[in-house]
Amino acid sequence: MLHLRGTIKSMNDSRSTDLIHHPYRPPAGFDAPMPGTFKASTVIFADVAAMRARNWQHKTGYTYGLHGTPTTFLLEERLCALEGGRQCVLTPSGLAAIANVSLALLRTGDEVLIPDNAYGPNKALADGELKAWGITHQLYDAMNPADLAHRITERTKLVWLEAPGSVTMEFPDLPALVRLCRERGVVCALDNTWGAGLAFRPFDLVPGEGAEPLAVDVSVHALTKYPSGGGDVLMGSVVTLDEALHLKIKLSHMRLGLGVGANDAEFVLRSLPSLEVRYAAHDLAARELARWLDTRPEIVQVLHPAIADSPGHEHWRALCAGGADGPRAGRAAGLFSVVFDHAYSAADVDRFCDSLKHFKLGYSWGGFMSLVVPYDVAGMRRPDVAPWPHKGVLVRFSVGLESMDDLQADLLQALQVLA
Ligand SMILES: *Cc1c(COP(=O)(O)O)cnc(C)c1O
Repeated sequence: MLHLRGTIKSMNDSRSTDLIHHPYRPPAGFDAPMPGTFKASTVIFADVAAMRARNWQHKTGYTYGLHGTPTTFLLEERLCALEGGRQCVLTPSGLAAIANVSLALLRTGDEVLIPDNAYGPNKALADGELKAWGITHQLYDAMNPADLAHRITERTKLVWLEAPGSVTMEFPDLPALVRLCRERGVVCALDNTWGAGLAFRPFDLVPGEGAEPLAVDVSVHALTKYPSGGGDVLMGSVVTLDEALHLKIKLSHMRLGLGVGANDAEFVLRSLPSLEVRYAAHDLAARELARWLDTRPEIVQVLHPAIADSPGHEHWRALCAGGADGPRAGRAAGLFSVVFDHAYSAADVDRFCDSLKHFKLGYSWGGFMSLVVPYDVAGMRRPDVAPWPHKGVLVRFSVGLESMDDLQADLLQALQVLA
């Protein structure tokens, strides 16, 4: 025994201990444009009393990596500033943020209302896990507030909102839908990924209206899109204004273990300072290309809320452009869809998409690389809720940061393939 201990000691000296517990501390006061990135599962306490006293719910200290580090706290506060909220939790994806909200606020016997044109996986969660746990859902026509009003019952505990709808891009009368939820006392959660905190203020929808701002209760944001901007990070956020509501969501967040990686948070912190200029550049290019496609004979409908004949344009104009007109009025994301004339078959439209060189085929959006996806909308919608009026195939574009002329030339050559 003595012999063995001697062997270990001579093999190691105390170098391995020194490599773990070395007393050197770099001088304090380092500063640089990018904040440091703090990585931890374990967080170290000064003594047992400190360990017992620490409360994971508040940002006054640290308990465990899952409950926050300086890096995640910093990102949360910047996202509160972006969206105009007071509290934020981070989740491993935008969909996890949606799931966090639904699981925190819904119990067996409750009902949730979701727009028929909502982000598909939100509806799939309701149709899968929520249904299996005895939580029912109804889809509503987001373009018709009366349809929402008529579906709210005493079992309705949550209404999801999205502006514009995913893929089909109809822009709802968001203030009207929020006012309705207020009047009926139902919590409303907005998927604010498209607006990104820039196109409109989710917690002050109609500045100057009434004594209290007209606000959503919860704003969910897929940081995967514009806040990341690189197509290389998955993350989501849940921003709120009300402390009690935040704690309810935070408690579920903790129990579900929805932590985010420090390096992912670092990437988003790195990208946030350029969010506004990138959003504006995506917007400018997307509007130009959408307007140009609107003149093409192959296209019967352009779906972009800032384009005059797009469904809900007047609601976009009121909310995001302060009622102003003009090609550059207001703000919009660099995302739009077009419907091809039904003379073009699904195979023709696939050929168009395959012929594009700069627009890559891929899901998600909001990054520097332009993307395209063809969709069969009929299979995504409930004809009894909000019938889809078009026969042709829909193609969605996410406009990246390439040269606009190159993107337009790319679209033109792919359209010519169809001739
Ligand atoms: C992409 C997206 C999400 C989900 O984000 P992920 O990080 O991919 O899970 C949610 N809502 C909308 C509107 C989206 O476009």
